[in-house]
Amino acid sequence: MEVDREPRRELLNLVRSLKQRVQMDGELGRSLSYLTRRKINVADRGAAVNPAEAAAPAAETPLSGIVSHLEEVRLDLGDCRRCLLHRTRHRLVFGEGNPKADLVFVGEAPGADEDAQGRPFVGRAGQLLTKIIEAMGLKREEVYICNILKCRPPGNRNPEPDEIASCEPFLIRQLEAIHPRAICALGTFAAHTLLKSEAPISVLRGRFHSYQEIPLMPTYHPAYLLRNSGAKKQVWEDVQMIMKELKK
Ligand code: SF4
Repeated sequence: MEVDREPRRELLNLVRSLKQRVQMDGELGRSLSYLTRRKINVADRGAAVNPAEAAAPAAETPLSGIVSHLEEVRLDLGDCRRCLLHRTRHRLVFGEGNPKADLVFVGEAPGADEDAQGRPFVGRAGQLLTKIIEAMGLKREEVYICNILKCRPPGNRNPEPDEIASCEPFLIRQLEAIHPRAICALGTFAAHTLLKSEAPISVLRGRFHSYQEIPLMPTYHPAYLLRNSGAKKQVWEDVQMIMKELKK
């Protein structure tokens, strides 16, 4: 029986690693062409398909160093089990967008839609965030979007301090890798975690703070705006200040 179990375990590990690689490449916007079937000619064996390609050095894009830094963070996070949230999550939500973004939005944690899709801000609040980004004259794929926690707290409850402590090092490394010109903290938990402040979001918003010498604007979370449309005016004031900062 042992003889049969070992190859099965090995196969399961291989499938798990491939799944992780596909998820990570998808998050980083990298090609998934290795998933498509390619016809191999006998002549191709042992030789490059295109000798010119083989002779040319690998193209260095301006993003390559940055992407690999983010990729490294994603790899280190792996199939994270550092806090108990791994038990109830369906998908880990690392973050997505331009790895060289001028602007990073940091939210609280994935909700049900994000947990199902493995992508940040894709539910109703996410659609509102996309509208805010477009109203700023930007495209969603031009910015980077992530959360303090990478896994959904059950029932969307508030993050616990130990969960934030376990997950925050990866957010710090994401922000280091991207090194944006401005950060927008969405909601109380993002603002409190990044600024190490306990002041209410209503007091923190409306002016820039500094996160590692990067201007940081706290504002209301889009989920709050869905319940309190009166706060849209203040969020618009906040994002206009970000737009001005990015034009400097
Ligand atoms: S919330 Fe963060 S620390 Fe906790 S399991 Fe998910 S990725 Fe790991």
